[in-house]
Amino acid sequence: MGKIIAIANQKGGVGKTTTAINLAASLAVLDFKTLIVDADPQANSTSGLGFNPKEIEYSIYECMVEGVIPQEAIVETNFENLYLLPSHIDLVGAEIEMINLKNREEKMKEALWPIKEDYDFVIIDCSPSLGLITINSLTAADSVIVPVQCEYFALEGLGKLLNTIKIIQTRLNTNLAIEGILLTMYDMRVRLSNQVVNEVTAHFKHMVFNTIIPRNIRLSESPSYGVPTIAQDSDSKGAVSYLNLAREILSKNGLLEQDEQTVRKAN
Ligand code: ADP
Ligand code: MG
Repeated sequence: MGKIIAIANQKGGVGKTTTAINLAASLAVLDFKTLIVDADPQANSTSGLGFNPKEIEYSIYECMVEGVIPQEAIVETNFENLYLLPSHIDLVGAEIEMINLKNREEKMKEALWPIKEDYDFVIIDCSPSLGLITINSLTAADSVIVPVQCEYFALEGLGKLLNTIKIIQTRLNTNLAIEGILLTMYDMRVRLSNQVVNEVTAHFKHMVFNTIIPRNIRLSESPSYGVPTIAQDSDSKGAVSYLNLAREILSKNGLLEQDEQTVRKAN
């Protein structure tokens, strides 16, 4: 199978990395072999899984620019079924180095497609920009998840992102689907959070996941322990909500047994 899902939004701090790590870990728990590709030079999902970006040997950068095969770069995490293709600050330079390359938008696809079938899911944690690395991520992907924070200006920039996705769908990757818009950091006590949920749902309707990710302290703590939240506190609302998201995605993709279809709304 090997489905590649990019987690993208050019806004920083909306929950891309948190979603990449915890969705990937949830898929891994549900017995799907999953690879996280850290495509952000800030390397937050690399460090959030307990690796020091300064000490890794090869990153996605070498795979895209220097022709290193991903098998050389991929590391096993401490979490069963979960693998990481790390990032490194050098990835910043890749944008510039790739400008003169032929098929510069397809470097990540060229790197990932040969190993796609080795995994059930490949989750790409994108950087907060719509630059060449993100274009590469969206060109390599089968679908995209757009996290939207339940905060002021939630919809800001979303039009531009959806427009970029449209351009990629016409020019570079006709198969790119929108897996869904994911509401993150929802706080039921805050009226604004509810307003954002209503606004986004009214506007994007069926594109919005039923699962809503609550604001949860465990989700913000676990990167400092270098583990996904489910490994730190599997009963926390944060861990449960990402498990529900994984189930919702599996169900949408026809990969969940009927009796497991208990997708609950987290709040
Ligand atoms: P991005 O990758 O889009 O920049 P992050 O996933 O790094 O966003 O999230 C930004 C910050 O918010 C981080 O400190 C993260 O720990 C925190 N965070 C993300 N999602 C949640 C959540 N649901 N509850 C609490 N904190 C969260
Ligand atoms: Mg991030």
